[in-house]
Amino acid sequence: MIRNLLCMTAPVREGFDIPCHEIGPASSHPAAAFVAGLHGDEINGVFILSRLADFLNSVEAGKYPELRLVKRVLIIPAVNVLGVNLRTRTWPFDKSDINRMFPGSTNGETTQRIAYAVLEATKRADYRIDIHTASTDFEEIPQVRLHGPSEAERETARMFGLPAIMERSLSPVFTTTMMHSWKVWPGQSFVLRIGQGGTVQLNHCQRVFRALVSFLGRIGILEGVQIAIEDEEVCSFDKPSAFRVYAEKAGTFVSDRQVGRWVRAGEELGYIYDSFGGSVIEKVVAPVAGLLTGIRRHPLLFEGDLILRVNRKG
Ligand SMILES: [Zn+2]
Repeated sequence: MIRNLLCMTAPVREGFDIPCHEIGPASSHPAAAFVAGLHGDEINGVFILSRLADFLNSVEAGKYPELRLVKRVLIIPAVNVLGVNLRTRTWPFDKSDINRMFPGSTNGETTQRIAYAVLEATKRADYRIDIHTASTDFEEIPQVRLHGPSEAERETARMFGLPAIMERSLSPVFTTTMMHSWKVWPGQSFVLRIGQGGTVQLNHCQRVFRALVSFLGRIGILEGVQIAIEDEEVCSFDKPSAFRVYAEKAGTFVSDRQVGRWVRAGEELGYIYDSFGGSVIEKVVAPVAGLLTGIRRHPLLFEGDLILRVNRKG
């Protein structure tokens, strides 16, 4: 079933709604809640969750007779629905970041009402998953991000089967994020960070879609899922394992390397060219041996811009 999480009126256009899928047997609270598009330019997550909703609705409709949805799943594919329409990260009317509006309120600004409605719908779920991307300039390996996790969350994180788990402490600064509000509630909370903003990266999206279906199988929400026995290696990385390379000169950066590759120390990963002269002005190499977990995709560099990140295996 699809319902509107929140219907809003706008001064100069028609009203708009935030769609919310509730799929599976009725229950006092969802077993799993998936949220994407808190940032309107992060399209990978919106695409993945809309496809997941379609798939689970098909399961409910009996199109996959071997599969059975035994617990309720809630999916909000695009919280910043206007931002998705207008291709903006923030809420278009007042440029506010919805992920800085939690826990929200019922009678505040529009974005506070949105935050409140999203939190109300999701906070009682046993498993809560919030999907983001990196910026529109940078690509991240599909990863689970843990923020000050419990032991149970550390264990569950491996069940996504994504190649990297990045652990951070819970930020004492950004206390108005959805993750921060989720943490107060029983149940487990995860951020998935998938690829680059502003685009749909089909290879990442297909991989994460399969990962989410397997995850629903492993945690006992979707019965009958064939789970691959030979899973790819899942690596956990803490903060000190990350080695970053920054641009020492301005120019045009190009690289044909894919995130998720293991690289050797000193391996060439790309070049910075003189933007108009065309000559190579810097060879960009891996700072250490490890997994290439992030790389810049916008070619035009200023001095000091982040070019790439390699995580060393602990
Ligand atoms: Zn985001």
